[in-house]
Amino acid sequence: MWISYFFIASAVFSWIKRPALIILCLFLCRYLQVVFSRFCSPCDIKDLFCTVLGVARNTNLTLLDSSGAMVSIDPTMPHNSERSKSQILIIISLSLSLSLSLSLSLCRAFKINELKTEVTNRLAMLEKRVELEGMKVVEIEKCRNDIRNLREEMLCRLQYMLSVQTIDALKKPAFDVWLWEANEMLSCLEHMYHDLGLVKDFNINPITLKRWLLCIHDNYKNNPFHNFRHCFCVTQMMYSMICLCSLQEKFTQVDVLILMTAAVCHDLDHPGYNNTYQINARTDLAVRYNDISPLENHHCAVAFQIFSQPDCNIFSSFDPEAFKQIRQGTITLILATDMARHGEILDSFKQKVDSFDYTDEEHVTCLKMVLIKCCDISNEVRPMEVAEPWVDCLLEEYFMQSDREKAEGLPVAPFMDREKVTKPTAQIGFIKFVLIPMFETVMKLFPQIEEAMVQPLRESRDRYEELKQIDDAMNEPDHRREEEVKRFEKVRRSRTLRFYFTRHVL
Ligand SMILES: [Zn+2]
Repeated sequence: MWISYFFIASAVFSWIKRPALIILCLFLCRYLQVVFSRFCSPCDIKDLFCTVLGVARNTNLTLLDSSGAMVSIDPTMPHNSERSKSQILIIISLSLSLSLSLSLSLCRAFKINELKTEVTNRLAMLEKRVELEGMKVVEIEKCRNDIRNLREEMLCRLQYMLSVQTIDALKKPAFDVWLWEANEMLSCLEHMYHDLGLVKDFNINPITLKRWLLCIHDNYKNNPFHNFRHCFCVTQMMYSMICLCSLQEKFTQVDVLILMTAAVCHDLDHPGYNNTYQINARTDLAVRYNDISPLENHHCAVAFQIFSQPDCNIFSSFDPEAFKQIRQGTITLILATDMARHGEILDSFKQKVDSFDYTDEEHVTCLKMVLIKCCDISNEVRPMEVAEPWVDCLLEEYFMQSDREKAEGLPVAPFMDREKVTKPTAQIGFIKFVLIPMFETVMKLFPQIEEAMVQPLRESRDRYEELKQIDDAMNEPDHRREEEVKRFEKVRRSRTLRFYFTRHVL
Protein backbone atom coordinates (compact mmCIF):
# COMPACT_ATOMS: atom_id res chain seq x y z
CA MET A 1 0.00 0.00 0.00
CA TRP A 2 1.47 3.28 -1.07
CA ILE A 3 1.33 6.32 1.11
CA SER A 4 2.03 9.82 -0.13
CA TYR A 5 5.40 10.99 0.89
CA PHE A 6 6.38 14.59 1.37
CA PHE A 7 9.96 15.09 1.86
CA ILE A 8 11.81 18.27 2.44
CA ALA A 9 15.21 17.75 0.98
CA SER A 10 18.28 19.79 1.11
CA ALA A 11 21.31 19.06 -0.89
CA VAL A 12 24.73 20.32 -0.78
CA PHE A 13 26.41 20.42 -4.13
CA SER A 14 29.95 21.12 -4.59
CA TRP A 15 31.32 21.50 -8.03
CA ILE A 16 34.51 19.89 -7.29
CA LYS A 17 35.52 16.58 -8.55
CA ARG A 18 34.64 14.88 -5.34
CA PRO A 19 31.30 12.96 -5.24
CA ALA A 20 28.35 15.21 -4.46
CA LEU A 21 26.70 15.00 -1.01
CA ILE A 22 22.97 15.63 -0.71
CA ILE A 23 21.17 16.01 2.57
CA LEU A 24 17.51 15.07 2.32
CA CYS A 25 15.48 16.74 4.93
CA LEU A 26 12.50 14.56 5.69
CA PHE A 27 9.35 15.70 7.27
CA LEU A 28 9.55 16.30 11.02
CA CYS A 29 13.17 17.35 10.66
CA ARG A 30 14.55 13.96 9.79
CA TYR A 31 17.53 14.17 7.51
CA LEU A 32 18.98 11.68 5.09
CA GLN A 33 22.25 12.01 3.25
CA VAL A 34 22.56 10.99 -0.38
CA VAL A 35 25.91 10.83 -2.08
CA PHE A 36 26.29 10.61 -5.86
CA SER A 37 28.89 11.29 -8.46
CA ARG A 38 28.72 14.53 -10.42
CA PHE A 39 29.26 12.41 -13.47
CA CYS A 40 26.20 10.18 -13.12
CA SER A 41 23.15 10.71 -15.30
CA PRO A 42 19.89 12.41 -14.19
CA CYS A 43 18.31 8.98 -14.45
CA ASP A 44 20.84 7.54 -12.02
CA ILE A 45 20.13 10.37 -9.55
CA LYS A 46 16.37 9.79 -9.81
CA ASP A 47 16.89 6.07 -9.18
CA LEU A 48 19.05 6.91 -6.20
CA PHE A 49 16.39 9.28 -4.85
CA CYS A 50 13.75 6.58 -5.33
CA THR A 51 15.87 4.09 -3.42
CA VAL A 52 16.40 6.58 -0.60
CA LEU A 53 12.70 7.38 -0.50
CA GLY A 54 11.79 3.70 -0.55
CA VAL A 55 9.62 4.00 -3.65
CA ALA A 56 9.68 2.07 -6.92
CA ARG A 57 12.51 2.96 -9.23
CA ASN A 58 10.31 4.11 -12.09
CA THR A 59 8.34 6.50 -9.90
CA ASN A 60 8.12 9.99 -11.41
CA LEU A 61 9.71 12.48 -9.09
CA THR A 62 9.54 16.27 -9.22
CA LEU A 63 11.94 18.43 -7.30
CA LEU A 64 10.79 21.84 -6.09
CA ASP A 65 12.73 24.52 -4.30
CA SER A 66 11.41 26.39 -1.26
CA SER A 67 9.64 28.93 -3.54
CA GLY A 68 7.79 26.13 -5.35
CA ALA A 69 9.88 26.39 -8.54
CA MET A 70 10.68 23.15 -10.30
CA VAL A 71 14.28 22.08 -10.20
CA SER A 72 15.66 19.66 -12.76
CA ILE A 73 17.13 16.51 -11.32
CA ASP A 74 20.61 16.24 -12.75
CA PRO A 75 24.19 16.56 -11.57
CA THR A 76 24.01 20.34 -12.11
CA MET A 77 21.29 20.84 -9.46
CA PRO A 78 21.94 23.97 -7.32
CA HIS A 79 23.60 23.01 -4.11
CA ASN A 80 21.86 23.65 -0.82
CA SER A 81 22.53 23.10 2.84
CA GLU A 82 20.58 22.06 5.92
CA ARG A 83 20.67 25.59 7.24
CA SER A 84 19.81 27.45 4.04
CA LYS A 85 16.03 27.27 4.31
CA SER A 86 15.44 29.34 1.21
CA GLN A 87 17.09 26.70 -0.86
CA ILE A 88 15.30 23.70 0.56
CA LEU A 89 14.25 21.34 -2.22
CA ILE A 90 11.07 19.40 -1.99
CA ILE A 91 10.71 16.08 -3.66
CA ILE A 92 7.23 15.09 -4.60
CA SER A 93 6.27 11.68 -5.85
CA LEU A 94 3.77 13.13 -8.27
CA SER A 95 2.33 10.03 -9.87
CA LEU A 96 2.17 8.29 -6.55
CA SER A 97 0.46 11.09 -4.64
CA LEU A 98 -1.94 11.67 -7.50
CA SER A 99 -2.95 8.05 -7.85
CA LEU A 100 -3.10 7.63 -4.13
CA SER A 101 -5.24 10.69 -3.52
CA LEU A 102 -7.43 9.68 -6.44
CA SER A 103 -7.88 6.16 -5.19
CA LEU A 104 -8.55 7.44 -1.68
CA SER A 105 -11.18 9.83 -2.98
CA LEU A 106 -12.75 7.06 -5.00
CA CYS A 107 -12.56 4.71 -2.10
CA ARG A 108 -14.12 7.29 0.22
CA ALA A 109 -16.84 8.08 -2.28
CA PHE A 110 -17.52 4.38 -2.79
CA LYS A 111 -17.59 3.74 0.95
CA ILE A 112 -19.93 6.65 1.58
CA ASN A 113 -22.30 5.25 -1.03
CA GLU A 114 -21.96 1.82 0.41
CA LEU A 115 -22.54 3.19 3.90
CA LYS A 116 -25.55 5.14 2.68
CA THR A 117 -27.06 2.02 1.17
CA GLU A 118 -26.31 0.03 4.28
CA VAL A 119 -27.80 2.65 6.60
CA THR A 120 -30.89 2.95 4.40
CA ASN A 121 -31.31 -0.82 4.35
CA ARG A 122 -30.81 -1.11 8.06
CA LEU A 123 -33.24 1.69 8.74
CA ALA A 124 -35.84 0.01 6.56
CA MET A 125 -35.19 -3.28 8.33
CA LEU A 126 -35.47 -1.66 11.75
CA GLU A 127 -38.67 0.10 10.78
CA LYS A 128 -40.07 -3.23 9.65
CA ARG A 129 -38.98 -4.87 12.88
CA VAL A 130 -40.46 -2.08 14.99
CA GLU A 131 -43.67 -2.47 13.08
CA LEU A 132 -43.66 -6.26 13.57
CA GLU A 133 -42.63 -6.01 17.23
CA GLY A 134 -45.34 -3.44 17.77
CA MET A 135 -47.85 -5.85 16.31
CA LYS A 136 -46.44 -8.59 18.51
CA VAL A 137 -46.73 -6.43 21.64
CA VAL A 138 -50.34 -5.69 20.79
CA GLU A 139 -50.94 -9.39 20.17
CA ILE A 140 -49.22 -10.39 23.42
CA GLU A 141 -51.19 -7.82 25.38
CA LYS A 142 -54.38 -9.11 23.79
CA CYS A 143 -53.44 -12.70 24.67
CA ARG A 144 -52.64 -11.65 28.24
CA ASN A 145 -56.04 -10.05 28.59
CA ASP A 146 -57.72 -13.12 27.13
CA ILE A 147 -55.82 -15.40 29.52
CA ARG A 148 -56.66 -13.16 32.48
CA ASN A 149 -60.33 -13.11 31.56
CA LEU A 150 -60.33 -16.86 30.99
CA ARG A 151 -58.62 -17.52 34.33
CA GLU A 152 -61.03 -15.30 36.19
CA GLU A 153 -63.98 -16.89 34.46
CA MET A 154 -62.56 -20.31 35.25
CA LEU A 155 -61.99 -19.31 38.87
CA CYS A 156 -65.57 -18.11 39.14
CA ARG A 157 -66.88 -21.30 37.62
CA LEU A 158 -64.60 -23.44 39.77
CA GLN A 159 -66.17 -22.18 42.94
CA TYR A 160 -67.91 -25.15 44.34
CA MET A 161 -71.27 -24.65 45.83
CA LEU A 162 -70.67 -25.75 49.37
CA SER A 163 -73.61 -27.55 50.87
CA VAL A 164 -75.14 -26.37 54.13
CA GLN A 165 -73.78 -29.52 55.79
CA THR A 166 -70.26 -28.82 54.52
CA ILE A 167 -70.41 -25.19 55.64
CA ASP A 168 -71.52 -26.36 59.06
CA ALA A 169 -68.95 -29.17 59.30
CA LEU A 170 -66.16 -26.80 58.27
CA LYS A 171 -66.52 -25.02 61.63
CA LYS A 172 -65.75 -28.14 63.61
CA PRO A 173 -62.47 -29.88 64.46
CA ALA A 174 -64.05 -33.18 63.38
CA PHE A 175 -64.19 -32.07 59.72
CA ASP A 176 -62.97 -34.84 57.44
CA VAL A 177 -60.09 -33.28 55.56
CA TRP A 178 -59.54 -36.33 53.33
CA LEU A 179 -62.77 -36.03 51.37
CA TRP A 180 -61.79 -33.04 49.26
CA GLU A 181 -59.93 -32.33 46.08
CA ALA A 182 -57.58 -29.33 45.88
CA ASN A 183 -60.20 -27.14 44.18
CA GLU A 184 -62.74 -27.97 46.85
CA MET A 185 -60.27 -27.14 49.60
CA LEU A 186 -59.56 -23.83 47.85
CA SER A 187 -63.29 -23.08 47.82
CA CYS A 188 -63.50 -23.92 51.52
CA LEU A 189 -60.62 -21.58 52.33
CA GLU A 190 -62.25 -18.87 50.26
CA HIS A 191 -65.51 -19.44 52.12
CA MET A 192 -63.73 -19.02 55.48
CA TYR A 193 -62.38 -15.58 54.48
CA HIS A 194 -65.86 -14.51 53.38
CA ASP A 195 -67.61 -16.05 56.37
CA LEU A 196 -65.32 -14.35 58.89
CA GLY A 197 -66.11 -10.99 57.24
CA LEU A 198 -62.48 -10.47 56.25
CA VAL A 199 -63.26 -9.89 52.55
CA LYS A 200 -65.86 -7.26 53.41
CA ASP A 201 -64.09 -5.57 56.31
CA PHE A 202 -60.74 -5.26 54.55
CA ASN A 203 -62.15 -4.59 51.09
CA ILE A 204 -60.34 -7.63 49.66
CA ASN A 205 -60.94 -8.10 45.93
CA PRO A 206 -62.72 -11.49 45.69
CA ILE A 207 -60.87 -12.34 42.46
CA THR A 208 -57.54 -11.45 44.07
CA LEU A 209 -58.46 -13.75 46.96
CA LYS A 210 -59.04 -16.61 44.50
CA ARG A 211 -55.77 -15.91 42.67
CA TRP A 212 -53.85 -15.68 45.94
CA LEU A 213 -55.22 -19.00 47.19
CA LEU A 214 -54.43 -20.64 43.85
CA CYS A 215 -50.90 -19.29 44.08
CA ILE A 216 -50.63 -20.59 47.67
CA HIS A 217 -51.68 -24.03 46.44
CA ASP A 218 -49.04 -23.92 43.71
CA ASN A 219 -46.35 -23.03 46.23
CA TYR A 220 -46.83 -26.06 48.43
CA LYS A 221 -44.67 -29.01 47.41
CA ASN A 222 -46.13 -32.47 47.04
CA ASN A 223 -44.45 -33.83 50.19
CA PRO A 224 -45.95 -36.81 52.02
CA PHE A 225 -46.87 -34.58 54.98
CA HIS A 226 -45.97 -30.91 54.49
CA ASN A 227 -48.24 -30.35 51.51
CA PHE A 228 -51.27 -28.24 50.61
CA ARG A 229 -53.67 -30.57 52.47
CA HIS A 230 -51.68 -29.97 55.67
CA CYS A 231 -52.00 -26.21 55.03
CA PHE A 232 -55.74 -26.71 54.63
CA CYS A 233 -55.93 -28.77 57.86
CA VAL A 234 -54.13 -26.13 59.91
CA THR A 235 -56.26 -23.31 58.48
CA GLN A 236 -59.47 -25.26 58.93
CA MET A 237 -58.52 -25.98 62.56
CA MET A 238 -57.80 -22.28 63.05
CA TYR A 239 -61.22 -21.45 61.59
CA SER A 240 -62.79 -24.04 63.93
CA MET A 241 -61.07 -22.52 66.95
CA ILE A 242 -62.10 -19.00 65.93
CA CYS A 243 -65.70 -20.22 65.74
CA LEU A 244 -65.62 -22.53 68.76
CA CYS A 245 -63.90 -20.03 71.06
CA SER A 246 -65.80 -17.00 69.68
CA LEU A 247 -62.45 -15.37 69.05
CA GLN A 248 -64.02 -12.60 66.98
CA GLU A 249 -65.52 -11.27 70.21
CA LYS A 250 -62.09 -11.13 71.85
CA PHE A 251 -59.78 -10.24 68.98
CA THR A 252 -59.78 -7.43 66.43
CA GLN A 253 -60.48 -8.33 62.81
CA VAL A 254 -56.82 -7.57 62.09
CA ASP A 255 -55.86 -10.31 64.56
CA VAL A 256 -58.29 -12.72 62.91
CA LEU A 257 -56.88 -11.87 59.49
CA ILE A 258 -53.34 -12.48 60.80
CA LEU A 259 -54.33 -15.83 62.37
CA MET A 260 -55.96 -17.09 59.17
CA THR A 261 -53.29 -15.79 56.80
CA ALA A 262 -50.42 -17.13 58.91
CA ALA A 263 -52.12 -20.54 58.98
CA VAL A 264 -52.50 -20.55 55.17
CA CYS A 265 -48.86 -19.52 54.61
CA HIS A 266 -47.13 -21.28 57.50
CA ASP A 267 -45.42 -24.11 55.56
CA LEU A 268 -45.07 -22.58 52.08
CA ASP A 269 -42.48 -24.30 49.91
CA HIS A 270 -41.56 -26.79 52.67
CA PRO A 271 -38.87 -29.04 51.17
CA GLY A 272 -39.85 -32.13 53.20
CA TYR A 273 -36.67 -32.12 55.31
CA ASN A 274 -36.75 -30.47 58.73
CA ASN A 275 -34.58 -27.76 60.27
CA THR A 276 -32.19 -30.30 61.81
CA TYR A 277 -31.45 -31.69 58.36
CA GLN A 278 -31.11 -28.18 56.89
CA ILE A 279 -28.57 -27.25 59.57
CA ASN A 280 -26.61 -30.53 59.57
CA ALA A 281 -26.48 -30.69 55.78
CA ARG A 282 -25.59 -26.97 55.65
CA THR A 283 -28.21 -26.34 53.01
CA ASP A 284 -28.66 -22.98 51.27
CA LEU A 285 -31.60 -22.22 53.58
CA ALA A 286 -29.54 -22.87 56.72
CA VAL A 287 -26.73 -20.70 55.41
CA ARG A 288 -29.12 -17.94 54.37
CA TYR A 289 -30.83 -17.80 57.78
CA ASN A 290 -27.77 -18.58 59.93
CA ASP A 291 -29.32 -21.81 61.28
CA ILE A 292 -32.09 -19.78 62.97
CA SER A 293 -35.45 -21.36 62.05
CA PRO A 294 -34.38 -21.68 58.39
CA LEU A 295 -37.63 -23.29 57.24
CA GLU A 296 -39.98 -20.90 59.04
CA ASN A 297 -38.02 -17.91 57.79
CA HIS A 298 -38.29 -19.35 54.29
CA HIS A 299 -42.06 -19.88 54.58
CA CYS A 300 -42.43 -16.20 55.58
CA ALA A 301 -40.23 -15.00 52.74
CA VAL A 302 -42.20 -17.03 50.16
CA ALA A 303 -45.48 -15.75 51.60
CA PHE A 304 -44.44 -12.13 51.15
CA GLN A 305 -42.95 -12.78 47.73
CA ILE A 306 -46.45 -13.92 46.75
CA PHE A 307 -48.01 -10.79 48.27
CA SER A 308 -45.56 -8.69 46.28
CA GLN A 309 -47.32 -9.81 43.08
CA PRO A 310 -50.13 -7.28 42.52
CA ASP A 311 -52.44 -10.03 41.18
CA CYS A 312 -52.12 -11.94 44.46
CA ASN A 313 -51.94 -9.12 46.96
CA ILE A 314 -55.06 -9.39 49.08
CA PHE A 315 -53.72 -6.47 51.14
CA SER A 316 -53.54 -4.04 48.20
CA SER A 317 -56.14 -1.71 49.72
CA PHE A 318 -54.23 -1.46 53.01
CA ASP A 319 -52.35 1.70 53.89
CA PRO A 320 -48.61 1.19 54.57
CA GLU A 321 -49.06 1.20 58.34
CA ALA A 322 -51.82 -1.42 58.26
CA PHE A 323 -49.77 -3.59 55.88
CA LYS A 324 -46.79 -3.30 58.24
CA GLN A 325 -48.94 -4.52 61.12
CA ILE A 326 -50.28 -7.48 59.13
CA ARG A 327 -46.79 -8.35 57.91
CA GLN A 328 -45.26 -8.22 61.40
CA GLY A 329 -48.10 -10.23 62.88
CA THR A 330 -47.95 -12.90 60.18
CA ILE A 331 -44.17 -13.24 60.46
CA THR A 332 -44.35 -13.58 64.26
CA LEU A 333 -46.91 -16.37 63.99
CA ILE A 334 -45.14 -18.32 61.24
CA LEU A 335 -41.84 -18.14 63.12
CA ALA A 336 -43.64 -19.44 66.22
CA THR A 337 -44.35 -22.74 64.43
CA ASP A 338 -40.72 -23.83 64.84
CA MET A 339 -41.02 -26.66 67.36
CA ALA A 340 -37.56 -25.81 68.67
CA ARG A 341 -39.28 -22.84 70.34
CA HIS A 342 -42.13 -24.90 71.82
CA GLY A 343 -40.97 -24.78 75.47
CA GLU A 344 -40.16 -21.09 75.37
CA ILE A 345 -43.56 -20.10 73.87
CA LEU A 346 -45.63 -22.40 76.08
CA ASP A 347 -43.83 -21.26 79.25
CA SER A 348 -44.46 -17.64 78.31
CA PHE A 349 -48.15 -18.40 77.77
CA LYS A 350 -48.43 -20.30 81.07
CA GLN A 351 -47.19 -17.22 82.89
CA LYS A 352 -49.94 -15.10 81.33
CA VAL A 353 -52.89 -17.43 81.18
CA ASP A 354 -54.08 -17.10 84.79
CA SER A 355 -54.34 -13.34 84.52
CA PHE A 356 -54.87 -13.07 80.81
CA ASP A 357 -55.52 -9.55 79.55
CA TYR A 358 -57.00 -9.08 76.07
CA THR A 359 -56.04 -5.41 76.16
CA ASP A 360 -52.37 -6.32 76.61
CA GLU A 361 -50.76 -6.62 73.17
CA GLU A 362 -48.05 -8.94 74.47
CA HIS A 363 -50.66 -11.28 75.94
CA VAL A 364 -52.67 -11.33 72.71
CA THR A 365 -49.57 -11.97 70.57
CA CYS A 366 -48.54 -14.83 72.84
CA LEU A 367 -52.03 -16.36 72.62
CA LYS A 368 -52.00 -16.08 68.82
CA MET A 369 -48.62 -17.85 68.76
CA VAL A 370 -49.99 -20.68 70.91
CA LEU A 371 -53.12 -20.91 68.74
CA ILE A 372 -51.18 -21.38 65.51
CA LYS A 373 -48.96 -23.92 67.25
CA CYS A 374 -52.06 -25.84 68.40
CA CYS A 375 -53.49 -25.84 64.88
CA ASP A 376 -50.19 -26.86 63.30
CA ILE A 377 -49.98 -30.08 65.33
CA SER A 378 -53.68 -30.69 65.76
CA ASN A 379 -54.14 -33.86 63.72
CA GLU A 380 -54.66 -35.96 66.84
CA VAL A 381 -57.53 -33.68 67.82
CA ARG A 382 -59.43 -35.02 64.84
CA PRO A 383 -61.37 -38.30 64.81
CA MET A 384 -59.20 -41.40 64.63
CA GLU A 385 -60.04 -42.19 60.99
CA VAL A 386 -59.03 -38.66 59.97
CA ALA A 387 -55.95 -38.43 62.18
CA GLU A 388 -54.51 -41.88 61.55
CA PRO A 389 -53.44 -41.45 57.90
CA TRP A 390 -51.50 -38.34 58.86
CA VAL A 391 -49.22 -40.43 61.08
CA ASP A 392 -48.34 -42.59 58.09
CA CYS A 393 -47.69 -39.45 56.03
CA LEU A 394 -45.46 -37.99 58.73
CA LEU A 395 -43.50 -41.23 59.16
CA GLU A 396 -43.06 -41.48 55.39
CA GLU A 397 -41.55 -38.00 55.36
CA TYR A 398 -39.41 -38.78 58.42
CA PHE A 399 -38.11 -42.01 56.85
CA MET A 400 -37.32 -40.16 53.64
CA GLN A 401 -35.20 -37.77 55.70
CA SER A 402 -33.48 -40.41 57.87
CA ASP A 403 -32.64 -42.51 54.78
CA ARG A 404 -31.02 -39.47 53.24
CA GLU A 405 -29.21 -38.62 56.47
CA LYS A 406 -27.80 -42.15 56.60
CA ALA A 407 -26.71 -41.94 52.97
CA GLU A 408 -25.04 -38.57 53.59
CA GLY A 409 -23.42 -39.63 56.88
CA LEU A 410 -25.44 -37.12 58.93
CA PRO A 411 -26.85 -37.69 62.45
CA VAL A 412 -30.23 -39.48 62.48
CA ALA A 413 -32.91 -38.75 65.10
CA PRO A 414 -34.27 -42.02 66.60
CA PHE A 415 -37.90 -40.91 66.15
CA MET A 416 -37.28 -40.69 62.41
CA ASP A 417 -35.36 -43.93 62.03
CA ARG A 418 -37.39 -46.67 60.34
CA GLU A 419 -35.34 -49.23 62.28
CA LYS A 420 -36.28 -47.77 65.66
CA VAL A 421 -39.63 -46.03 65.57
CA THR A 422 -43.09 -47.61 65.68
CA LYS A 423 -46.32 -45.79 65.28
CA PRO A 424 -47.45 -46.08 68.94
CA THR A 425 -44.07 -45.04 70.34
CA ALA A 426 -43.96 -42.11 67.92
CA GLN A 427 -47.40 -40.93 69.01
CA ILE A 428 -47.61 -41.58 72.75
CA GLY A 429 -44.81 -39.26 73.84
CA PHE A 430 -45.94 -36.50 71.49
CA ILE A 431 -49.56 -36.63 72.64
CA LYS A 432 -48.71 -36.96 76.35
CA PHE A 433 -45.91 -34.45 76.64
CA VAL A 434 -46.57 -31.92 73.87
CA LEU A 435 -50.19 -31.89 72.77
CA ILE A 436 -52.17 -32.48 75.96
CA PRO A 437 -50.19 -30.00 78.14
CA MET A 438 -50.54 -27.30 75.47
CA PHE A 439 -54.26 -27.82 74.79
CA GLU A 440 -55.01 -28.08 78.52
CA THR A 441 -53.32 -24.71 79.05
CA VAL A 442 -55.42 -23.17 76.26
CA MET A 443 -58.45 -24.82 77.86
CA LYS A 444 -57.98 -22.55 80.87
CA LEU A 445 -58.95 -19.61 78.64
CA PHE A 446 -61.44 -21.49 76.48
CA PRO A 447 -63.12 -24.29 78.48
CA GLN A 448 -65.30 -25.09 75.46
CA ILE A 449 -62.40 -26.84 73.72
CA GLU A 450 -62.32 -29.64 76.27
CA GLU A 451 -65.02 -31.74 74.69
CA ALA A 452 -64.17 -30.99 71.06
CA MET A 453 -60.41 -30.98 71.27
CA VAL A 454 -58.86 -32.14 74.53
CA GLN A 455 -61.02 -35.23 74.99
CA PRO A 456 -60.13 -36.64 71.54
CA LEU A 457 -56.46 -36.15 72.46
CA ARG A 458 -56.88 -38.18 75.66
CA GLU A 459 -58.67 -40.92 73.75
CA SER A 460 -55.96 -40.97 71.14
CA ARG A 461 -53.29 -41.27 73.85
CA ASP A 462 -55.16 -44.20 75.45
CA ARG A 463 -55.57 -45.94 72.10
CA TYR A 464 -51.88 -45.70 71.23
CA GLU A 465 -50.93 -46.89 74.70
CA GLU A 466 -53.10 -49.94 74.17
CA LEU A 467 -51.48 -50.51 70.81
CA LYS A 468 -48.07 -50.24 72.40
CA GLN A 469 -48.98 -52.91 74.95
CA ILE A 470 -49.98 -55.22 72.13
CA ASP A 471 -46.81 -54.34 70.31
CA ASP A 472 -44.73 -55.16 73.40
CA ALA A 473 -46.63 -58.40 73.89
CA MET A 474 -45.84 -59.47 70.35
CA ASN A 475 -42.19 -59.30 71.26
CA GLU A 476 -42.57 -61.44 74.38
CA PRO A 477 -42.08 -65.28 74.59
CA ASP A 478 -44.46 -67.57 72.65
CA HIS A 479 -46.66 -68.74 75.58
CA ARG A 480 -47.95 -65.21 76.05
CA ARG A 481 -48.15 -64.41 72.39
CA GLU A 482 -51.23 -66.58 71.72
CA GLU A 483 -53.27 -64.71 74.28
CA GLU A 484 -52.21 -61.36 72.96
CA VAL A 485 -52.87 -62.34 69.37
CA LYS A 486 -56.46 -63.19 70.34
CA ARG A 487 -56.75 -59.76 71.90
CA PHE A 488 -55.21 -58.24 68.89
CA GLU A 489 -57.63 -60.05 66.54
CA LYS A 490 -60.48 -58.47 68.43
CA VAL A 491 -59.42 -55.02 67.49
CA ARG A 492 -57.76 -55.58 64.14
CA ARG A 493 -60.92 -54.74 62.25
CA SER A 494 -60.41 -51.22 63.40
CA ARG A 495 -58.89 -49.02 60.75
CA THR A 496 -56.58 -47.70 63.43
CA LEU A 497 -54.68 -50.94 63.40
CA ARG A 498 -54.26 -51.25 59.67
CA PHE A 499 -50.80 -49.82 59.74
CA TYR A 500 -49.78 -51.79 62.80
CA PHE A 501 -51.14 -55.04 61.38
CA THR A 502 -49.30 -54.61 58.12
CA ARG A 503 -46.07 -53.72 59.83
CA HIS A 504 -45.92 -56.30 62.57
CA VAL A 505 -48.07 -59.32 61.68
CA LEU A 506 -48.47 -59.84 57.98
ZN1 LIG B 1 -47.18 -27.13 59.55
